[in-house]
Amino acid sequence: MTAAKPPATPSSPHVMNTYGRLPIALSHGQGCRVWDVNGREYLDALGGIAVNTLGHNHPKLVPALQDQLTKLIHTSNYYHIPHQETLAAMLVERSGMRNVFFCSTGLEANEAALKLARKFGHDKGIERPEVVVYEKAFHGRSIATLSATGNPKVQAGFGPLVDGFIRVPANNIAALKAATVGNPNVVAVFMEAIQGEGGVNTMHMEYLREVRALCDASDWLLMIDEVQCGMGRTGKWFAHQWAGIQPDVMPLAKGLGSGVPVGAVVAGPKAAHIFAPGNHGSTFGGNPLAMRAGIETIRIMEEENLLANAATVGAHLKNALHTALAEHVENGGVKEIRGQGLMLGIDLAKPCGALVQQAADQGLLISVTADTVVRLVPPLILSQAEADQVVAILAPLISTLLKETA
Ligand SMILES: *Cc1c(COP(=O)(O)O)cnc(C)c1O
Repeated sequence: MTAAKPPATPSSPHVMNTYGRLPIALSHGQGCRVWDVNGREYLDALGGIAVNTLGHNHPKLVPALQDQLTKLIHTSNYYHIPHQETLAAMLVERSGMRNVFFCSTGLEANEAALKLARKFGHDKGIERPEVVVYEKAFHGRSIATLSATGNPKVQAGFGPLVDGFIRVPANNIAALKAATVGNPNVVAVFMEAIQGEGGVNTMHMEYLREVRALCDASDWLLMIDEVQCGMGRTGKWFAHQWAGIQPDVMPLAKGLGSGVPVGAVVAGPKAAHIFAPGNHGSTFGGNPLAMRAGIETIRIMEEENLLANAATVGAHLKNALHTALAEHVENGGVKEIRGQGLMLGIDLAKPCGALVQQAADQGLLISVTADTVVRLVPPLILSQAEADQVVAILAPLISTLLKETA
C-alpha cells in the first residue's frame, strides 16, 4: 500500500447521478482484497454492501459459474428450472420453512412479501390491509418499499406514498400493541432482524419472541427482511434464528448469490399457498445462472464452515474494536459497538462520513450509514489477521476524528 491519494475518477455524464461515488474505480479482486485501475490495493470490509459472501474470484465459485455459462444462462419460468428446485430445497431445509419465490433484488423480494401480506388479508375479507413497519427501517427504493422504509430522506420527492403502513419504534412491544389494538385491518408485522441501512440496530431476542407470539395470537404474518442480515452473516443462516423463532415470510437477496443478483422470498406454512398462478412473477427471477450462484454459495459456505467463521471472526473483530477504542467507549465518543457476526456498527457521537474516504486512502473499504455509524459487512471468508488489519487502519482514524474539535 502506498500513501498516495487515489486519482479522482470523474463520473461519466452518461451515468445517471444517483450515487455520491468515491474517486475510486475497482478493477479486480482476490479473496477479501480488491485492486483499483491504478493497481492500488484495498482490504474490502464492505463486500459490495454485504453481497460478496465468498469474497472475490473464489476458486470454487468462479469455475462453477463458468460451467453454468456454457450450459444455460436464462430460460423462462414457463418451464421447470431444476436449479431453482434445488436452491429452493436448500433454503427450505436451512430455514425450516416451506417454499420459495425467486426474483433478482432485495426490493423485489420485499415487494413480493408486501403483496403476500395484502393477499393474505384480502383472502380473509380484509379490504384495506395494513402492515406494521418500523422507525429507521430500510426495505428498498420501489414505491411500496420506500413507503415501508422509515427514513424521510429515502421518501422525499416521491409522494404520494403507498398507504396501509403503521409505523412503530423497535424493541417496544407495548408501542406495537398500542398502535394496533382494536384494528381489524392489520395483516402483518414487517421488520429487519438487524436494521442495516438504519445504523446496524438489532432487534432484541426477547422482542422477536414477543412479536412472534403477538402475530400468532392475532393471525398476522411475521415477515422478517433478512436481505442484509441473512445468509450466514451473523453466524447462523438467518439472524432471527438466534431468537429461536421462525417468520412466516422471509425476503432474502444481497449475500445469496455472492455477487450474482438473486433475490428470494421464503414462505412458511401460513404464507406458502397465498399466491396462485398469475398472482406474481419475475422474468429474470430464478434463472439458471442466478440459481447456480445461490446453490454454489451455500455449498461452499458449508464446505468452508463460513457460518462459524462469521461468528468467531466477527466476535474477534468486535472485541478488538472495543479494545482499540476503549478510551472513546469510556468517554462516550463511541456510543456503542453493536451487531453480530460480520455485521457490525460503530456508533459515534458525531457524523463520520469523512471516514469513508480517509479509510480508502489507507487501503480499507468501509461504509458509513445513518450519518454516525461505521458499518462493517465484509465477506464471510474474512480471516482473523484481516480483521486485525481492519482495526489497525480504522481505530486510529476514528480516534483522530473524535479528538477533532467541532
Ligand atoms: C439492501 C436492502 C434492501 C434492498 O435491496 P436491493 O437489492 O437494493 O433492492 C432491502 N432490505 C434490506 C434490509 C436491505 O439491506
